[in-house]
Amino acid sequence: MTEEKIAVVTGASRGIGRAIACRLASAGATVVLNYNGSAEKAQAVQAEIEAAGGRAQAVQCNVSDYAACETFFQGVIETYGRIDILVNNAGITRDGLLARMTEEDFDRVIEVNLKGTFHCLRFAARQMIRQRGGRIINLASVSGVAGNAGQVNYAASKAGVIGMTKSAARELASRGVTVNAIAPGFIETDMTGALSDAVKEAAVRQIPLGRFGKPEEIAAMAAFLASEEAGYITGQVFQVDGGMVM
Ligand code: NAP
Repeated sequence: MTEEKIAVVTGASRGIGRAIACRLASAGATVVLNYNGSAEKAQAVQAEIEAAGGRAQAVQCNVSDYAACETFFQGVIETYGRIDILVNNAGITRDGLLARMTEEDFDRVIEVNLKGTFHCLRFAARQMIRQRGGRIINLASVSGVAGNAGQVNYAASKAGVIGMTKSAARELASRGVTVNAIAPGFIETDMTGALSDAVKEAAVRQIPLGRFGKPEEIAAMAAFLASEEAGYITGQVFQVDGGMVM
């Protein structure tokens, strides 16, 4: 499916990004595993992919840093010559009620989730335009679709990602580049692991399928959107949330 494709997955050291990277690698892609602080975890993902016969390279880059992203993508293009798949997955939360949310917590979430997505989208799209083809998949969230108390910063960043996805899809369609978003609900990762048991129990009660999702269930959707079979799909937001938001 993704034989001999070059894929970049941001935030691939843990959670959903790790699962997407492993899935793309198992489908034959060479995967650049971006991470920010978790060097050992990213190298462990690389080792796991290589042990399974795949190809991967862990590369540090803070996606919120424009200049660092430029250098990162230049490096990928110098090494591999092309970028076929970009998965903008790196993301953070800094939850808090509106009245108590600090400016710093608002700015940091926007810088990583929204500006980070813009930076990677911009540098990868320039290469994909030259190639006249590519697949871009952005991780949004159901919070960006329906809103969520305690997440005005995060929901705004993810709603922004959805608007960016649709705008980029319109711009890049004539160059053979598709741009779609996945909006997960609650998925079992470090991000949701930080929630209290009471919050998790309340969340499960809102999910018709009665459980949190697994990173591999997001990876399955990402792998489909990255495949040749998804060539007629662009500008869409796919909720993978156990039916939480309908
Ligand atoms: P996670 O387990 O907390 O992992 C976050 C990943 O993002 C890590 O690999 C981390 O790298 C990377 N990252 C954070 N800041 C970065 C930066 N500035 N530059 C580069 N990489 C950075 O998160 P997750 O749950 O897998 O979430 C992945 C994506 O799905 C996020 O965009 C999140 O908003 C979205 N999402 C998650 C859920 C959920 O329930 N889990 C629901 C909806 C949407 P380091 O470890 O190296 O710092």
